[in-house]
Amino acid sequence: LKEHTDVVVIGAGAAGLMCAIAAGERGRSVRVLDHANKVGKKILMSGGGRCNFTNLHTAPENFLSANPHFCKSALSRYTQWDFIALVEKHRIAYHEKTLGQLFCDGSSKQIVAMLLAECERVGAQVQTHTPVTIEQLGPPHRLSTPAGTITCDSLVIATGGYSIPRMGATGFGFDFARDQGLKVLPTRAALVPFVFEGRKLEQIDGLAGISLDCLAEAGAGQFREGTLFTHRGLSGPAMLQVSSYWQPGEPVRIDLLPELDLNETLRRLRAERPRAQLKTVLAEHLPRRLVERWCELWLGNPRLAELGDAAIADIVRRCQPWTVWPADTEGYRTAEVTIGGVDTDELSSKTMEAFKLPGVFFIGEVVDVTGHLGGHNFQWAWASGRAAGQFV
Ligand code: FAD
Repeated sequence: LKEHTDVVVIGAGAAGLMCAIAAGERGRSVRVLDHANKVGKKILMSGGGRCNFTNLHTAPENFLSANPHFCKSALSRYTQWDFIALVEKHRIAYHEKTLGQLFCDGSSKQIVAMLLAECERVGAQVQTHTPVTIEQLGPPHRLSTPAGTITCDSLVIATGGYSIPRMGATGFGFDFARDQGLKVLPTRAALVPFVFEGRKLEQIDGLAGISLDCLAEAGAGQFREGTLFTHRGLSGPAMLQVSSYWQPGEPVRIDLLPELDLNETLRRLRAERPRAQLKTVLAEHLPRRLVERWCELWLGNPRLAELGDAAIADIVRRCQPWTVWPADTEGYRTAEVTIGGVDTDELSSKTMEAFKLPGVFFIGEVVDVTGHLGGHNFQWAWASGRAAGQFV
């Protein structure tokens, strides 16, 4: 087989399919090639099977990138409202779960079916089980697949990041960019739970399953969301969010009582209820199992009258904030995204084309733009895919 098509998109994920639709709408002939056995595997597994497909509040502030301005152009030309209109056109029922996060009422399969229906409508061909080797860059670019050689004028790299290798994630896009002399910023797992070791793990022994509303902070990231104790460390939306800002060796600060001034409260209660025991009072504000564990480890169970100001300050220091030093994150095995990637300085923010490689475009997660938790990553995939689709 030897054939020519206007556009080849490598990667039938969120960004690749959206790019194919946009290009097909312009009358371009498009082939989307994916090595996996199914398209859109991450869409399927996203949002607990209901796909948190966008966020009502998506804005450039929801993204991390060495150049925070880069994402603005694509996001402004294809917004969450545009994607919502597409979802509504396909009569997919959805709801806002929390914080502007939109989920399907039914299943994430509906989003994949919608994207495939749109590809079909515009004549874009989507092919799975197709590993690709880029043999020569042009244009025309020459690619080889098990079924033969394909040439194309525009080549779009939409192969995503490293997260969840068992779902078919590879470093293909990063390696290709690097081989072609493009700068690739260091990558690491993000939106990922933390793991503890040794004595730090002992602090949370027996607490798995507890979840509470917290104000969490790491580096420049601060989020007010839920934290979940696990057998290995900490998870939940607040931890996933701050993981994007965390560097190994740094602490994570977690205010376990964001609505309460614990210092003031304990001093007041010491006067009002001097005979009350510390455990009783803390358990009025924190999960009992957590209070019991920490009283056992650090605080004892004195009556409030026995607490001096220094002792109160010490108790406060354990929870407001509770400072933890994670050993690591769970890594790409469970991370929702890969931070870092193809340096945006190498790409046009208007077209996503690489300045040094005419006719080669990078979109989605392979690019150094990473969203916060809550539908922003898909919105970046849709918007960057759409942006490239206008120019391929
Ligand atoms: P992907 O969707 O990863 O697509 C890349 C495609 O390229 C894949 O189909 C892959 O098979 C293919 N590919 C890879 N290597 C090759 C190769 N060498 N040759 C050919 N094909 C290749 N984001 C949200 O906004 N909301 C959510 O609810 C959400 N939930 C998530 C849940 C989980 C468990 C995970 C892992 C991620 C979640 N994300 C979520 C993040 C989101 O899935 C990604 O940001 C998004 O899918 C990135 O889109 P993409 O098209 O760039 O890459």
